[in-house]
Amino acid sequence: MKKNVLKGIMGACIITGLIIVQVSPTFADVKDYVTENNHVLIGGVTGRHYYITKATESKYVAPINNAINDWKSATGNLVSFTRTYDTYEVEAQATIRAKSYPNYPYNDANGYTEFYNKKIDIDKVQPNYCDWQYTEVHLNTYRIQNYSSDLIKGVVAHEMGHTFGLDDNNSNPGTIMCQTGSGRNVTQPQSGDVAGINYLYK
Ligand SMILES: [Zn+2]
Repeated sequence: MKKNVLKGIMGACIITGLIIVQVSPTFADVKDYVTENNHVLIGGVTGRHYYITKATESKYVAPINNAINDWKSATGNLVSFTRTYDTYEVEAQATIRAKSYPNYPYNDANGYTEFYNKKIDIDKVQPNYCDWQYTEVHLNTYRIQNYSSDLIKGVVAHEMGHTFGLDDNNSNPGTIMCQTGSGRNVTQPQSGDVAGINYLYK
Protein backbone atom coordinates (compact mmCIF):
# COMPACT_ATOMS: atom_id res chain seq x y z
CA MET A 1 0.00 0.00 0.00
CA LYS A 2 1.34 3.41 -0.94
CA LYS A 3 1.96 6.08 1.67
CA ASN A 4 -0.32 8.70 0.10
CA VAL A 5 -3.17 6.18 0.20
CA LEU A 6 -2.52 5.67 3.91
CA LYS A 7 -2.56 9.40 4.53
CA GLY A 8 -5.95 9.55 2.82
CA ILE A 9 -7.29 6.74 4.97
CA MET A 10 -5.94 8.35 8.13
CA GLY A 11 -7.48 11.69 7.11
CA ALA A 12 -10.85 10.00 6.65
CA CYS A 13 -10.50 8.41 10.09
CA ILE A 14 -9.90 11.77 11.74
CA ILE A 15 -13.17 13.01 10.27
CA THR A 16 -15.11 9.95 11.41
CA GLY A 17 -13.86 10.33 14.97
CA LEU A 18 -13.58 7.26 17.16
CA ILE A 19 -12.15 4.90 14.53
CA ILE A 20 -8.84 6.77 14.56
CA VAL A 21 -8.09 5.52 18.08
CA GLN A 22 -7.63 1.98 16.81
CA VAL A 23 -6.66 2.51 13.19
CA SER A 24 -4.00 5.19 13.11
CA PRO A 25 -1.33 3.57 15.34
CA THR A 26 -1.27 0.51 13.06
CA PHE A 27 -0.89 2.52 9.88
CA ALA A 28 1.67 4.85 11.45
CA ASP A 29 4.01 1.84 11.88
CA VAL A 30 3.89 0.67 8.26
CA LYS A 31 7.45 0.47 6.95
CA ASP A 32 8.88 0.27 3.45
CA TYR A 33 11.72 -1.92 4.70
CA VAL A 34 13.63 -3.08 7.77
CA THR A 35 17.41 -3.66 7.79
CA GLU A 36 19.67 -5.76 10.01
CA ASN A 37 21.14 -2.73 11.77
CA ASN A 38 22.45 -1.67 8.35
CA HIS A 39 24.61 -4.78 7.98
CA VAL A 40 25.20 -5.98 4.42
CA LEU A 41 26.44 -8.69 2.11
CA ILE A 42 30.19 -8.00 1.90
CA GLY A 43 31.08 -6.96 -1.66
CA GLY A 44 27.55 -5.84 -2.46
CA VAL A 45 24.77 -7.32 -4.56
CA THR A 46 26.03 -6.54 -8.06
CA GLY A 47 27.82 -9.12 -10.23
CA ARG A 48 27.41 -11.96 -7.73
CA HIS A 49 26.59 -15.68 -8.00
CA TYR A 50 24.06 -18.16 -6.69
CA TYR A 51 24.24 -21.91 -6.63
CA ILE A 52 21.35 -24.39 -6.56
CA THR A 53 22.26 -27.64 -4.83
CA LYS A 54 22.11 -30.76 -6.96
CA ALA A 55 19.64 -32.42 -4.59
CA THR A 56 17.09 -29.67 -5.27
CA GLU A 57 14.10 -31.08 -7.20
CA SER A 58 13.80 -29.69 -10.70
CA LYS A 59 10.36 -28.12 -10.11
CA TYR A 60 11.97 -25.58 -7.76
CA VAL A 61 14.65 -24.47 -10.21
CA ALA A 62 12.48 -22.24 -12.43
CA PRO A 63 10.86 -20.40 -9.46
CA ILE A 64 14.35 -19.84 -7.97
CA ASN A 65 15.70 -18.41 -11.23
CA ASN A 66 12.57 -16.31 -11.73
CA ALA A 67 12.73 -14.88 -8.19
CA ILE A 68 16.30 -13.73 -8.74
CA ASN A 69 15.44 -12.26 -12.14
CA ASP A 70 12.55 -10.37 -10.49
CA TRP A 71 15.01 -8.77 -8.06
CA LYS A 72 17.24 -7.86 -10.99
CA SER A 73 14.43 -6.12 -12.90
CA ALA A 74 12.92 -4.45 -9.83
CA THR A 75 16.26 -2.88 -8.87
CA GLY A 76 17.34 -1.87 -12.38
CA ASN A 77 20.18 -4.46 -12.24
CA LEU A 78 21.61 -3.16 -8.94
CA VAL A 79 20.89 -6.69 -7.74
CA SER A 80 22.49 -9.03 -10.27
CA PHE A 81 23.09 -12.64 -9.39
CA THR A 82 24.17 -15.14 -12.05
CA ARG A 83 23.76 -18.87 -11.53
CA THR A 84 27.01 -20.75 -11.04
CA TYR A 85 27.43 -24.50 -11.42
CA ASP A 86 30.71 -24.44 -9.57
CA THR A 87 30.79 -25.65 -5.96
CA TYR A 88 29.16 -23.12 -3.71
CA GLU A 89 32.13 -22.93 -1.41
CA VAL A 90 34.27 -21.52 -4.19
CA GLU A 91 32.15 -18.93 -5.87
CA ALA A 92 28.54 -18.42 -4.80
CA GLN A 93 27.31 -15.72 -2.45
CA ALA A 94 24.02 -17.57 -2.01
CA THR A 95 23.52 -21.32 -1.99
CA ILE A 96 19.91 -22.39 -2.35
CA ARG A 97 18.63 -25.81 -1.33
CA ALA A 98 15.13 -27.23 -1.31
CA LYS A 99 14.75 -29.86 1.38
CA SER A 100 12.08 -31.17 3.74
CA TYR A 101 12.30 -29.86 7.31
CA PRO A 102 9.44 -31.59 9.15
CA ASN A 103 10.96 -31.03 12.60
CA TYR A 104 11.48 -28.13 14.98
CA PRO A 105 12.69 -25.39 14.64
CA TYR A 106 12.07 -25.05 10.91
CA ASN A 107 8.80 -26.96 10.42
CA ASP A 108 6.74 -23.78 10.72
CA ALA A 109 8.85 -21.81 8.22
CA ASN A 110 8.48 -21.90 4.42
CA GLY A 111 12.11 -20.96 4.17
CA TYR A 112 15.00 -19.67 6.24
CA THR A 113 18.39 -18.15 5.58
CA GLU A 114 21.68 -18.73 7.37
CA PHE A 115 24.50 -16.18 7.25
CA TYR A 116 28.22 -16.95 7.17
CA ASN A 117 31.46 -15.07 7.52
CA LYS A 118 34.58 -17.18 7.44
CA LYS A 119 36.76 -14.27 8.45
CA ILE A 120 35.69 -14.48 12.08
CA ASP A 121 36.01 -17.36 14.53
CA ILE A 122 32.45 -18.62 14.35
CA ASP A 123 31.47 -19.12 10.73
CA LYS A 124 27.73 -18.71 11.20
CA VAL A 125 26.84 -15.14 12.13
CA GLN A 126 23.85 -13.12 13.30
CA PRO A 127 23.17 -10.55 10.59
CA ASN A 128 22.06 -7.92 13.09
CA TYR A 129 25.58 -8.01 14.61
CA CYS A 130 27.91 -8.18 11.62
CA ASP A 131 28.23 -8.32 7.84
CA TRP A 132 28.34 -11.65 5.99
CA GLN A 133 30.16 -13.13 3.00
CA TYR A 134 27.51 -15.58 1.83
CA THR A 135 24.28 -17.26 2.83
CA GLU A 136 22.50 -20.57 2.64
CA VAL A 137 18.84 -20.26 1.67
CA HIS A 138 16.71 -23.24 2.67
CA LEU A 139 13.34 -23.84 1.09
CA ASN A 140 11.15 -26.08 3.24
CA THR A 141 9.54 -28.54 0.83
CA TYR A 142 7.71 -30.06 3.81
CA ARG A 143 5.54 -26.93 3.66
CA ILE A 144 5.73 -25.63 0.09
CA GLN A 145 5.58 -28.83 -1.99
CA ASN A 146 1.99 -28.10 -3.05
CA TYR A 147 2.50 -24.37 -3.59
CA SER A 148 2.06 -22.91 -7.06
CA SER A 149 5.18 -21.95 -8.94
CA ASP A 150 4.34 -18.28 -8.28
CA LEU A 151 4.08 -18.78 -4.51
CA ILE A 152 7.36 -20.73 -4.45
CA LYS A 153 8.94 -17.83 -6.33
CA GLY A 154 7.66 -15.50 -3.59
CA VAL A 155 9.28 -17.63 -0.88
CA VAL A 156 12.62 -17.56 -2.72
CA ALA A 157 12.41 -13.80 -3.35
CA HIS A 158 11.75 -13.25 0.37
CA GLU A 159 14.73 -15.36 1.44
CA MET A 160 16.97 -13.67 -1.12
CA GLY A 161 15.92 -10.37 0.43
CA HIS A 162 17.43 -11.68 3.67
CA THR A 163 20.62 -12.56 1.77
CA PHE A 164 20.83 -8.90 0.70
CA GLY A 165 20.29 -7.60 4.24
CA LEU A 166 16.58 -6.91 4.50
CA ASP A 167 14.82 -8.12 7.64
CA ASP A 168 11.19 -9.23 7.90
CA ASN A 169 8.76 -6.34 7.47
CA ASN A 170 5.54 -7.73 8.88
CA SER A 171 3.91 -4.30 9.15
CA ASN A 172 3.49 -4.16 5.38
CA PRO A 173 1.86 -7.10 3.51
CA GLY A 174 2.57 -5.24 0.26
CA THR A 175 6.31 -5.95 0.49
CA ILE A 176 8.10 -9.18 -0.35
CA MET A 177 9.80 -8.97 3.07
CA CYS A 178 6.48 -9.48 4.88
CA GLN A 179 6.22 -13.10 6.07
CA THR A 180 3.43 -15.22 4.58
CA GLY A 181 2.08 -15.79 8.09
CA SER A 182 1.62 -12.02 8.42
CA GLY A 183 -0.40 -11.83 5.23
CA ARG A 184 2.10 -11.12 2.46
CA ASN A 185 0.04 -10.52 -0.68
CA VAL A 186 2.83 -10.19 -3.27
CA THR A 187 5.23 -12.68 -4.90
CA GLN A 188 7.87 -10.29 -6.18
CA PRO A 189 9.88 -7.35 -4.79
CA GLN A 190 7.92 -4.09 -4.47
CA SER A 191 8.95 -0.43 -4.31
CA GLY A 192 9.46 -0.61 -0.54
CA ASP A 193 11.82 -3.57 -0.90
CA VAL A 194 13.73 -1.78 -3.64
CA ALA A 195 14.02 1.29 -1.42
CA GLY A 196 15.75 -0.94 1.15
CA ILE A 197 18.25 -2.25 -1.43
CA ASN A 198 18.97 1.31 -2.63
CA TYR A 199 19.47 2.45 0.95
CA LEU A 200 21.97 -0.32 1.69
CA TYR A 201 23.94 -0.46 -1.57
CA LYS A 202 23.50 2.64 -3.71
ZN1 LIG B 1 11.86 -13.81 6.61
